Amino acid sequence: MSRGLTLRCPNCGIGRLFGAYLKVNASCPHCQEELHHQRADDAPPYFVILIVGHIVVGAALAVEVAFSPPMWVQMTAWPLIAIALCLLLLPCIKGALIGLQWAFRMHGFDPATRKTGTAFIDYDPFYQEPADDRLA
Ligand SMILES: [Zn+2]
Repeated sequence: MSRGLTLRCPNCGIGRLFGAYLKVNASCPHCQEELHHQRADDAPPYFVILIVGHIVVGAALAVEVAFSPPMWVQMTAWPLIAIALCLLLLPCIKGALIGLQWAFRMHGFDPATRKTGTAFIDYDPFYQEPADDRLA
C-alpha cells in the first residue's frame, strides 16, 4: 500500500503506477508487473471525500473558533482548500488501493488464477455456487 501511496508499482516500488493523472499503466515500466487487473472503481473518491471532509470541516470549525474571520474569506478559502486536497489525494489513495488489491491478490493479481494465451477469468472472492435445487 505504501508503494501505491507514493504512486509507484506495488511489486517493485520503482516503476510509475500512473501514465497520466489517474490513468493506470497496463503494466509496470520497470518490472513488467501487469497492473491492468486493478479495479479501484469508486473507492478512491469515497475515501478522499471521507478524509478531506474530516480535515476541512475540523479546520473550518477550529479557525472559526480561534480567529472568527469574515464569512467571505471562509466561503472562498475552504472550497478551494477542499478542491486542492481532493486533487492532491486522489492519485495517492487510488495508488494505495491498487497496492492493497495487489497485496491481497485480488482481481487477477494472483498468479495462480492467471491464464496466459487464453481468455482471462476474473477471480471473484464473493462468488457462490448456485444452490442445487435437486437436494432441497
Ligand atoms: Zn514494477
